[in-house]
Amino acid sequence: MSHHTQLPTMTETPILIIDDDNVTRLTLKKILHKQGYHVEEANSGEGGLAILEHYIPHLILLDVMMPGINGFETCRLIRNNFSYNETPIIMLTGLNDVASVDDAFIAGANDFITKPINWPLLVKRVLYAIRDRDIQIELAENEARLQHSQRIAKLAYWQMDLQNQEINLSDVFYEQFPTKHISANTFADYIQLIHPDDRDLLQNKLTELYKTKQKIEFDHRIKLDYLDYTFHLYAEAVLDQNNDVQALRGTLQNITQQRNAEALIEHQMYHDDLTGLPNKKQLVNELNKLLARKESDTHLTATVAIGLKRFSEINDSLGHQSADRLLKCFADRLNSLSGIEIAGRYEAQTFVVLINNLNGLDLLKSALDNMQQHLLTPYVVDKQEIFVDIRMGISIFPIEEGNSNSLISNALLALNNAKESINDKTCFHSPEMNQQAVRIRAIETHIRLALENDQLHLFYQPQIDLSSRKLIGAEALVRLELDDNDWMSPIDFIPVAEETGLIIPMGYWIIETACKQIRTWLDCGVEELRIGINLSAKQFSDPNLSTTLDNAVYKYRLPSHCIDLEITESVALDDLDQTINILQRFKQRGYTISMDDFGTGYSSLSSIHLLPIDILKIDRAFIKDIGRNGEHGAMAKTIINMSHNLNLSVIAEGAENEDHIEFLKANHCNEVQGFYYSRPLSADQFLEYYKQYINNESCIIIPNSIASAQ
Ligand code: C2E
Ligand code: MG
Ligand code: MG
Repeated sequence: MSHHTQLPTMTETPILIIDDDNVTRLTLKKILHKQGYHVEEANSGEGGLAILEHYIPHLILLDVMMPGINGFETCRLIRNNFSYNETPIIMLTGLNDVASVDDAFIAGANDFITKPINWPLLVKRVLYAIRDRDIQIELAENEARLQHSQRIAKLAYWQMDLQNQEINLSDVFYEQFPTKHISANTFADYIQLIHPDDRDLLQNKLTELYKTKQKIEFDHRIKLDYLDYTFHLYAEAVLDQNNDVQALRGTLQNITQQRNAEALIEHQMYHDDLTGLPNKKQLVNELNKLLARKESDTHLTATVAIGLKRFSEINDSLGHQSADRLLKCFADRLNSLSGIEIAGRYEAQTFVVLINNLNGLDLLKSALDNMQQHLLTPYVVDKQEIFVDIRMGISIFPIEEGNSNSLISNALLALNNAKESINDKTCFHSPEMNQQAVRIRAIETHIRLALENDQLHLFYQPQIDLSSRKLIGAEALVRLELDDNDWMSPIDFIPVAEETGLIIPMGYWIIETACKQIRTWLDCGVEELRIGINLSAKQFSDPNLSTTLDNAVYKYRLPSHCIDLEITESVALDDLDQTINILQRFKQRGYTISMDDFGTGYSSLSSIHLLPIDILKIDRAFIKDIGRNGEHGAMAKTIINMSHNLNLSVIAEGAENEDHIEFLKANHCNEVQGFYYSRPLSADQFLEYYKQYINNESCIIIPNSIASAQ
């Protein structure tokens, strides 16, 4: 027994001999040494176990018959106490011990050699036992390495038997899911795990494989506990001797992370880090898409560049981080805007919003107003209330031709103008649009001021009954007084009032003023007059209109038929059922109803006869060209006849000369309104006109520049 075990060199395979018989031990040692092994020896079981504490042999030769613990017991203890189970143990037994061979194996031995020892055979046995051990170890290592790499690669094996549809999935597959309770033993089980949208794909692909016997690869998703996993499936057919498909097998690789990473990279490429909004690149893409699928030429696509004013000041006073937070809040608001197609961050404090399929410029205007209101509401960042100011620059397709890049850069140019301008917080790129926007805004301001400062006036244009020659009514026409005796035509400001909603308060004022005026005239001894009040679209659908009328009529004690409500064809036909409803309500109250500007719209006779109206006003356009012998009067004549067939009274607008009057009389037109009798007059002028008219029963034309709006 050696106390100082010598460590084997790299090339020497270590062997341990445990035998109490000195001769056997020494002989063994000598022979094995000669073979190039490194040998340690022990003369008892206890001694052997002690050596094993620090010496790891590749083979142990172990005598059975020893004093102290015998070979079997030693073998058992080695197997129990030491971890190197792969080390082969060869037992050395006497010939008469053959019966105890079984005991040797039970104790954990790998082989046995009988004494007396056949030395050449022993050498061979030792050699093969050690080689066997090495192969075992290498195999185990390979196996472990493979499993490890499969785990890393998240690569599972699967095989499906076609006969019973049983499926075999390696552990790596199940390890991909945090929930351990799933199992798939049949193909049907597996299908259940698949994302419903991918089930057909899987089935079709495997059928294809079955038919063509050509290997396939594809991705499919597994849906588990509301999570989606993406797996790459590789599959091939296992064929039997007849070349029939007997099973399918392949690999399944969890590529969820790669896919997510790809998606993330893709997202980062097209989105802004700070706000998460689409970036410059993505904005261009999206605008391209919009332009490509634009529904029609009449629809508009607006590119709106929005800049935060004085952002650097905010940055300085709040600090970088808070300013970033503000940008983020601003971006969130932009993103939550309704009616927009997409909102993105172009750069720094410049954002771009795309609005698609606008039906008209007034819709754009209300979209911009809405946007402004939404974005200007104060922000709260780090418990501080922050007010921001914005500027907007707009380019509009197809008013401006161009591609996405030019539309965006035009919007940015317009934004620059808006930033430099003192008055205009919003600028359009196209000069015409800009002029129009400026003009509309100026008119809007005028209307507001006029409402506040009593600068609205009603003028009245007499209406004459052609057969009785009586002055039976007048049309109230609104005028807007500008400074220094200048007037604005309703043709210019009514559309703006309509667009901005100012028509509603203006309409109330008109109704109040007209009714008050009738009362004043009645009190002056004027006979009952029918006063025409024009209603534009918004007024007509205003639910408060009838109450306003009723109140005014009641307040000034007027017979309701004195009020003649003028609506145009386009207003009336917009929603025929609703129009009929509203008109019927007015009829019940006793108001007179006229169809204004008849012939210029699209109304057909069939729809006119459905409407409860009293008077039809032939548009000026059909009167103005009528000549001395009635030429160009065909349309007017047709309209008059048709109206009479429908039991409607007819009034001709814009009768300017004797020829017109003669023609209208000859064709039995009931009434006229036009410069021939009078231009629209102020209330005082009208009273004067009325008095002279009933005295002379003839027409007096008061020249009045104010009244001549056309
Ligand atoms: P409308 O209702 O068809 O009014 C008749 C227009 O023809 C008036 O123009 C009147 O001055 C003009 N006119 C009358 N006789 C002659 C004529 O012999 N020759 C020529 N060349 N023109 C004549 P005005 O006052 O400029 O009004 C234009 C339009 O503005 C009106 O057309 C009406 O649609 C709208 N409007 C005027 N006042 C009001 C109002 O109080 N409320 C609403 N909603 N719209 C109004
Ligand atoms: Mg009118
Ligand atoms: Mg008219």
